[in-house]
Amino acid sequence: MRFKKKLLVVDNKNDYFMNKFEGCEHGNLSSQADIQIFKIYNELKFDNIDGGVWKQGWNVQISKNRWNSSNKLKIFVVPHSHNDPGWKKTFEQYYASHTRNIFNNMVTKLSEDSRRKFIWAEVSFLSLWWIDISQNVKRKFQELVDSGQVEIVSGGWVMPDEANSHYYSIIQQLTHGHQWLKKHLNYKPKHSWCIDPFGTSPTLPYILQHFGLESLVIQRTHYSIKKYLAKNKQLEFRWRQLWDSFGKYDFMTHMTPFYSYDIPHTCGPDPAVCCQFDFRRSSYSGMTCPWKKQPQMITERNIAFRAEILLDQYRKKAELYSTNVLLVPLGDDFRYDVSYEWDQQFNNYQKLFDYMNNNPSLYVEVNFGTLQDYFESLKNEKLKTMFPSLSGDFFTYADRDDHYWSGYYTSKPYYKQMDRELISYLRSAEILHAIAWKSAPQYSDWLISEKSNLVSSLRNAREGLSLFQHHDGITGTAKEYVVDDYGRKLEQGMKGAQHVMQQALNFILNADKSSYQPDLELVYFELKESRKTSDYGPEKIIKINEFQSIRKIVIFNSLTWNRKEILSLKIENYVNIELYDENNELVPYQINPFCELTESKKNCFLLYFKTNIEPLSIKMYFLKFSAGVSNTNNLASLTILNGPATLHKLQNVKNFLKEQQIMSDFSLQNNKISVTFRREGLMKAITLKDLDLTVSVHLNFIKDINCEKPLVKIIEGKLISSVIVYCDFVVHAVNVYNCSGFEEHSIEIQNLVDIKTENNFEIAMKISTGIKSKGIFYTDLNGFQIIKRQYYSKLPLQGNYYPMSSSTYIEDENVRLTLVSAQPLGASSLNEGELEVMQDRRLSQDDNLGLGEGVLDNRPILHIFRLSLEKRIPNCHKVPKTHTVGYLSMISYLAMNSVLYPLMLFIQTDEKTNQNKLYDSYYVPEIINSSNIDVHLVSMVTIPESVAVGFVLHKTDLDTCFFEEYENYSFNNGLVNVSSFFPSNVDDVLYQSSLSFVQIKNKHEKNKLYPMCAMEFAAFYVTNNSVNIPIPFL
Ligand SMILES: [Zn+2]
Repeated sequence: MRFKKKLLVVDNKNDYFMNKFEGCEHGNLSSQADIQIFKIYNELKFDNIDGGVWKQGWNVQISKNRWNSSNKLKIFVVPHSHNDPGWKKTFEQYYASHTRNIFNNMVTKLSEDSRRKFIWAEVSFLSLWWIDISQNVKRKFQELVDSGQVEIVSGGWVMPDEANSHYYSIIQQLTHGHQWLKKHLNYKPKHSWCIDPFGTSPTLPYILQHFGLESLVIQRTHYSIKKYLAKNKQLEFRWRQLWDSFGKYDFMTHMTPFYSYDIPHTCGPDPAVCCQFDFRRSSYSGMTCPWKKQPQMITERNIAFRAEILLDQYRKKAELYSTNVLLVPLGDDFRYDVSYEWDQQFNNYQKLFDYMNNNPSLYVEVNFGTLQDYFESLKNEKLKTMFPSLSGDFFTYADRDDHYWSGYYTSKPYYKQMDRELISYLRSAEILHAIAWKSAPQYSDWLISEKSNLVSSLRNAREGLSLFQHHDGITGTAKEYVVDDYGRKLEQGMKGAQHVMQQALNFILNADKSSYQPDLELVYFELKESRKTSDYGPEKIIKINEFQSIRKIVIFNSLTWNRKEILSLKIENYVNIELYDENNELVPYQINPFCELTESKKNCFLLYFKTNIEPLSIKMYFLKFSAGVSNTNNLASLTILNGPATLHKLQNVKNFLKEQQIMSDFSLQNNKISVTFRREGLMKAITLKDLDLTVSVHLNFIKDINCEKPLVKIIEGKLISSVIVYCDFVVHAVNVYNCSGFEEHSIEIQNLVDIKTENNFEIAMKISTGIKSKGIFYTDLNGFQIIKRQYYSKLPLQGNYYPMSSSTYIEDENVRLTLVSAQPLGASSLNEGELEVMQDRRLSQDDNLGLGEGVLDNRPILHIFRLSLEKRIPNCHKVPKTHTVGYLSMISYLAMNSVLYPLMLFIQTDEKTNQNKLYDSYYVPEIINSSNIDVHLVSMVTIPESVAVGFVLHKTDLDTCFFEEYENYSFNNGLVNVSSFFPSNVDDVLYQSSLSFVQIKNKHEKNKLYPMCAMEFAAFYVTNNSVNIPIPFL
């Protein structure tokens, strides 16, 4: 749609990673593209000069003698209908009110004339329609697809948002769409259509390429960038990855020049003229042209003049491109839903085309077309290598004036966080499902049976996550009740994924698989939800007493490296408790006086313990009641500042209270870092103890947040120490962990934000440091790569905000400060040495851009971050300073993966029914290079219809110019032992595959190493030797 919520109203080891293989040269270099968006931002004045009829451009003149009889202008008019799977209505409501009719009319009206064409993007809608229609209609639609009259573009479940979405989900929704297309239409998309996401990211073309696509159309980019590229005839380019010096992954991209994808803004620079050729805006439809000149049906009397003014627009548009081929989209939101529109548009345009084509002096060839028609013709005109290369992204989008679309980086953070939570659950559920199935092939067929609810639970979770990637889903730009609908689907997905996880775990750990009788209704283990706020409903608190003497605790590590982390359990009572590990050895623990950041009357204590767990492994702990065990040594100490006397007298805190007076700054520390706080509880400085380096790091909340003399709780213990500060609208906690590994190098920040009582309110966390960042900061794109940003005073504040999908950092010659985030939010650096992250926003009124409501459904939200300060090795730089790419350090990379994919902790449910079952207390797959951290298992899925498992790997690239400890972790030298990522059986066969698993490629010998360059993806497909690769997956 055209209108969105948008406004933010506030305010060396240099060669360590170099691969030694040919073709991997991009390892530590950066893009040297012909066009660099970063440079253009430096040059542009952003002066927004009025360009006349093309307001954001200029008065375009047609070059004399550009076209002649041997050099005609070839125009492809591409009919399309933009269907949002949820915005003002829900996905299903739109289907019922519009989309079903569009499909039905498509079959009827395209069959009438083979010259008619249409493109379609959203497979989610196609899948709904498919259930509704007869075999006969399916056959007709298949014929239209086969003949090329209908082209499915992109083939994703949705047209995903590109700012907040994580690359896992982008892959997920594309895989889901492509598999559907393969199964039902035996179809593979070639071109991508991305006209409505509010800003676009280079992660998309990179992923699209791995799905076998060739080219891309984008629309919503800053009007000043459009103008700049149009002036230079550079709206078509090879989009280059920031880190790809040689253009190995260049992707053919077409950017549209004007304000919108609707008909007034696609035929040429003058919307008043183009609108007259939107024939739906006539007669009884109720739609008109706001430019006051209405469309006229084409007749013999008016055709010469009508053709002339339309062709004039086409020719002017062609002046902005470097070839004689022109793409003209013809459509709008939910168009072609009524059959008369098909007649209006197709009949009138056909008359115009016939007239133009039959008039040789016009030097034009114009037809309905698809993206395939357009890009094929473009290929014949000009080699791909002749187009300029471009590096950078297209954030932050402005559609006009100072309307920067950065508010949606933060809007409705509660749901943005649910998205990340579902990613973590779904990924773990799929991996556990695959491991369980492979762990005992002769007894595990029930796991992949269509009859079991496990396969359907996984499918629902994928669909819920995929649907939410829609550019009005995760963005928070849909109406409240539509957002509720997405929320319900996410929640169902989470429940389904939890069900699969615990069923799979129970089977994997069961010692006697041969006699295993699955009970698919039973909950054997309950997941301890890692990011739960009080709003999700009551959470189980473990009771331990003499009657419930042992509780089994199960931990799963979904990552492919060893993890040492501190975990917590909520317990009702801490007396007479012992914790044992899988070898029946006593585990030390710490008890904290309360569970929630907010005041709670519940009897609840947090038990913290340290775990050390192998890759893809499962481990069992035992919480036992042991009469007479004294554990006062394990109690953390609590200091309360500025608290009412009643707080000190509370029964459950009394045993923890340490009566100490704190009159000035104080600090918390572990072996590696010391964090200093002002007396009012907010962070002031971080010291790296080994390096004897202190950097001032002032944390604050803006703006107008009262945090003058807040209640402060200081908890000190052997495993974790915390400061909790109770400001207005935010409860802010800083946790310092005492655990070797990344946790002792990074500080955890939790902000429980609740602004629902306020109007037109925003709250941001500001971290001010002495780092000499010179206006430069870095943010990630889709959790996949890092891009350099610069603060510009020539842009308004909201134009300086960027999406932070998972991390941001600032640095100077000496240090770097990185914030990794468990949830996507908007971030900026408005002053030297600062990082600012928006936490939540609330708008009382609509922003007059079409949605018709403000943002008022705020809920309490618990944001989780990890902050790390690192000292640079002198004169070590991964890439030259002029380059626009960034890389995370190892510590921050580990922290990022840990917050996104927390260790899954399960608690056994009913002790009585399960007590007598014989369990293995651990499961460790044979993973060979368990300490390699630079190859990540993106996903692993069972593919029941092919009796196969597919998995996707990604080789990351890190910045190693910091004093970090490497002894526990190592890096892959670029040769990956693929079979070590998967517990395979002797007769399994391994194939290379496309990321969607719809294209199975060469066989890969299991013992052979697979070369992977930095930033690359690779996908594999494992099937049993005795199974032929089934037809749908050839
Ligand atoms: Zn849209």
